[in-house]
Amino acid sequence: MKAIIRIAAAVIILIFCAAWTAFADGPISLQLDGQTVNTDVAPIIENGRTLVPYRALLESMGAEVFWESKAEMATAILGSHRVQVTINNATAFVNGSIKEMDVPPRIIDGRTMIPLRFVLENLKCDVNWNNDSRTVIITSPQNEGPTEVTKIEYEETESGYHIIASGSDVFKSTRAFAYKEPERYGIDIFNAVFPDKVGTILTDNEVFNSIRYSQFNDDTVRIVVDLNDKVAGRVRLSDDRATVFIDFEKAVTAINRGERRDDDSNDPINWKELPDEDKDDAAILPELDWRATGKLIAIDAGHGGKDPGAAGKINGREVIVERDLNLAIALRLNQLLSSAGASTVLLRDSDITMSLYSRPEAANALNADLLISVHNNSAETATPNGTEVLYYDKVGTESYGITSKEVAAFMQKELVLETGLKDRGIINCPHLAVLNKSLMPAVIIEGGFLSNPDDLQVMLTDEFKEAYAVAAARGIINALNSWAER
Ligand SMILES: [Zn+2]
Repeated sequence: MKAIIRIAAAVIILIFCAAWTAFADGPISLQLDGQTVNTDVAPIIENGRTLVPYRALLESMGAEVFWESKAEMATAILGSHRVQVTINNATAFVNGSIKEMDVPPRIIDGRTMIPLRFVLENLKCDVNWNNDSRTVIITSPQNEGPTEVTKIEYEETESGYHIIASGSDVFKSTRAFAYKEPERYGIDIFNAVFPDKVGTILTDNEVFNSIRYSQFNDDTVRIVVDLNDKVAGRVRLSDDRATVFIDFEKAVTAINRGERRDDDSNDPINWKELPDEDKDDAAILPELDWRATGKLIAIDAGHGGKDPGAAGKINGREVIVERDLNLAIALRLNQLLSSAGASTVLLRDSDITMSLYSRPEAANALNADLLISVHNNSAETATPNGTEVLYYDKVGTESYGITSKEVAAFMQKELVLETGLKDRGIINCPHLAVLNKSLMPAVIIEGGFLSNPDDLQVMLTDEFKEAYAVAAARGIINALNSWAER
């Protein structure tokens, strides 16, 4: 977290626009829940906009404010609500989803200026203007404390068994875990309270026999499932993030999917029922710990459609573009991970155009546990060559239990071994949207340099694509196995 500097010294200023710009005379005061807020810098008017320092204001309502200087990004968290804005960029992320602002945040005279109404309203504050007293009247949200879990239910459907936790508001974050001996699967729901405190739901399905829940500590609700078998659940959030689902596939579905199990019992059928090519694939990969099989890996094939990405040229003629190469590798990576029993989703599986921000947004909406972006590199000159993995450990990923940097190291090790390209190491890249707008740990693989003639010769081969995909799959499985042990 070194790249992240809490806004201690920095003076953050908010821009008032819209209705208030017309009233550009006299001092402006701020009122929060009936109390005047004194700020270290008086509100000012510039270019017809009222600018107000807001750090004191946000912190006096209990919000956490982070300034990530290299990404030029401010994140405000109040209760379970999170607003992230970037300098000179009108696109904000609210609870992981894209929202457009009328005015982008700017730096003026070295000060970060952020639209106050946008930020506060998305933190669920009420914002009003009293023109007579020239006061901005802010009412902090009723429930800026933990989200209340209103009920926990169990449901069986055709495809599986589901545990459903409903909340009074959005859920901030969750962390799934699984234990051996006896086998248990569970999740912690953070910044949440459950007034009923303790309860048990008995079930008699083949996957688990009971669901227990309790207030684990002041602001964490824990749900534990007592398993009959080594099967991990998958955690999903509703679109409004106010409902958490823990989904378990029915055992027969899991077998058909060909999951390997390490229970060395009596059940060779699982292995036998794997299609031949999947069996071959699984044999070249490390065995995936069953406890990590529910972690969702979002695979992002870089570029696509109208965006070809970098091109490789021979004698000035284009022979390959990233768009196609990345997609081929991503499809193969997905196949490999599936054969190992991992849960995966491809953000694109065909040649379509996707905006840069839609990639992290999609991973956020899917509540993915890991985002892996498949790219290849290019430089201005023909000299740079080799393989590297980019990462950024942003605010809020602490609860995931593994860092982007750790994942990057697992990936890089396998990529260098398997592709034989030069080891350029792992690189901290705070400014890349895929890394800093995603809520989960995320890495970008840059396989080789299309601009380097030697790398390009290697990258044009089918062996390279296979090596890249196998290495990435191994790196991901190693990361997941290490995660499961924690
Ligand atoms: Zn690229």
